[in-house]
Amino acid sequence: MFQKILIANRGEIACRVIRTAKRLGIATVAVYSEADARALHVDLADEAWPIGPPPARESYLAIDKILDVARRSGAEAIHPGYGFLSENADFADACAQAGVVFIGPPPGAIRAMGSKAESKAIMQRSGVPLVPGYHGEAQDFQTVSEAAARIGYPVLIKASAGGGGKGMRIVERPSDLETAIEGAKREARSSFGDDRVLVEKYLTRPRHIEIQVFADTRGNFAFLFERDCSIQRRYQKVVEEAPAPGMDPPRRRLMGEAAIAAARAVGYVGAGTVEFIAEGEVFYFMEMNTRLQVEHPVTEMITGQDLVEWQLRVASGEPLPLIQDQLGIRGHAIEVRVYAEDPARDFLPSIGTLVHLRQPREAAHVRVDTGVGQGHQITPYYDPMIAKLIVWGEDRPAAVRRLAGALSEYEVVGVQTNLGLLRAIVDNPAFEQARLDTGFIARHADELLPAITPRLPEADETAVWAAATLAVLAEQRAAKQGKAERSGDRWSPWDVADAWRLNGEGYQDLRFRRGEETLTVRTHPQAGGSFRLDLPAGSVQAEAAESEAGMFLRVDGISHRARVVRRRAELTVILAGRNHVLHQVDPLAPPRLEMAGEDKLIAPIPARVSRVLIEPGARVKKGVPLLVLEAMKMELTLSAPLDGTIETLRHRAGEMVEEGTELVTFAREER
Ligand code: ADP
Repeated sequence: MFQKILIANRGEIACRVIRTAKRLGIATVAVYSEADARALHVDLADEAWPIGPPPARESYLAIDKILDVARRSGAEAIHPGYGFLSENADFADACAQAGVVFIGPPPGAIRAMGSKAESKAIMQRSGVPLVPGYHGEAQDFQTVSEAAARIGYPVLIKASAGGGGKGMRIVERPSDLETAIEGAKREARSSFGDDRVLVEKYLTRPRHIEIQVFADTRGNFAFLFERDCSIQRRYQKVVEEAPAPGMDPPRRRLMGEAAIAAARAVGYVGAGTVEFIAEGEVFYFMEMNTRLQVEHPVTEMITGQDLVEWQLRVASGEPLPLIQDQLGIRGHAIEVRVYAEDPARDFLPSIGTLVHLRQPREAAHVRVDTGVGQGHQITPYYDPMIAKLIVWGEDRPAAVRRLAGALSEYEVVGVQTNLGLLRAIVDNPAFEQARLDTGFIARHADELLPAITPRLPEADETAVWAAATLAVLAEQRAAKQGKAERSGDRWSPWDVADAWRLNGEGYQDLRFRRGEETLTVRTHPQAGGSFRLDLPAGSVQAEAAESEAGMFLRVDGISHRARVVRRRAELTVILAGRNHVLHQVDPLAPPRLEMAGEDKLIAPIPARVSRVLIEPGARVKKGVPLLVLEAMKMELTLSAPLDGTIETLRHRAGEMVEEGTELVTFAREER
């Protein structure tokens, strides 16, 4: 076994590989880009080496830099994780030349499976069933359209070099074919630098079922059963489970053997996944992924095996830890991918700081694979995944229940997430009944999307207002108490923060804004630290206790668990796993000034400074562009709010700034 390995990756998968290496007593070397200097994988590894600027091309994809670290740190092997260099045959070659073990298949197997067209040709020769289609060299329109006619519409055009659903087009009728081919080729050329396409029968209600295979250097093969990854959004997996609902043992064996035939055909070694598309009783080869998959944990949960340990053993020359007959399935496992994505913006990545992050507590049957913690950032440079949540149950219904429970424990403030969608999927009757196919999300969109922001029951609505109000009152009390302690007289009646008055009943009004609605809550302190709150639905009696676990709230005798996270005037109330955003309105504050009148320029959103257009000392007129920010694919030009002289300029092009960061300050012009 190796003494020391390098992990050429980041995020949750780097952390996950390090965890197994630690358990096996293997030293770990992490690499990190400038954007990841404080990332979790850097903390977890025994050593961490910087490899350059944030863009992956200059760091995580820089073969020379990574091999240089391997050499200098004395790592004997490199685990590539998934993505980045994991399916790069040139990298595998370069490792071999440098005398470092690439923890993955031989370069030849990566190359053979790298092209959808070539891999299909190999599979055809090995007798693995293929979707009816055309994957030949000739790319002229006549050949392709004749093939489409022969296959029968609807057909699917795919980029031969494809991945991530790019370059795919569904074509319903012959008259649409030419435009679709052109579109697919254009996308394929820009994404993969290769515009070859293939055509296949488009299945209308298929399931995505994949087989986990393993091979060692001694010619042993095994399959660790299947995963069903049919719940997808735009051809991207969202929920994965094992075993596949409804799979029977003879069919499982048939698919497992087909997968092994596929792996054998390319001389496979290590972990691989053979993806099939299945409809009714038939299944067809789609492609083979020559690496560890994102969704491998569900296989680990049902087999009790650690697939990274298997990879390390096989790569160091040991035989497969178990043979086929020693492998079995226990229970059911489901994984969901928790992403920083904004459902309101068609699930675009949501960039920002994880101001508050609490994930479900890990337990025997609940696993959270994550690469971020509270205070970390989701940057525009890499995949915006926050975590994978994986649960196990004795059977599928038990796993679904456990998943629903774990999802409700999530607390994320600072970025938008897909948690609402995940919860809506898990609660959907069709999902509970395992009626799965790749069109699930699109077909149930009418039920799923409104369920992301459901109408709250009245008791919860009241609890949200009460939680926000009590949080503000608690802050006031804490602030006053601090002041009283500093003033030396802890018991001074003038510092008590409970609206205590010398005469009559005291009260205090707090104002909140939520969306379009503004609400004033009249708060009346009561004996024993509770309050009477006048809310739209009537007056309630409310009290709260704060602890690490959040706010324990009681409203008219009904108790709730909540958490209130403040960011300046914004209060996020997390109740039953859902976020409710309110703004506290301070009636004494002057009306929000426009940028004009202020003597600084603030970043309105978390972003990257893409251009700086002025220098300190420069005199500018109001409206002159000063800086260009870039967030996601959007550019934002910030202009001078006033006539003045630039006093300080804190950021250079290329730097990341958080929302609220002071970018420029001015020396005011004398009038
Ligand atoms: P990529 O490599 O770009 O991810 P895949 O070939 O793996 O592309 O296919 C991704 C997804 O597209 C599949 O999981 C499935 O949902 C859908 N898909 C692929 N081929 C077909 C087909 N012939 N008919 C219907 N859906 C398909």
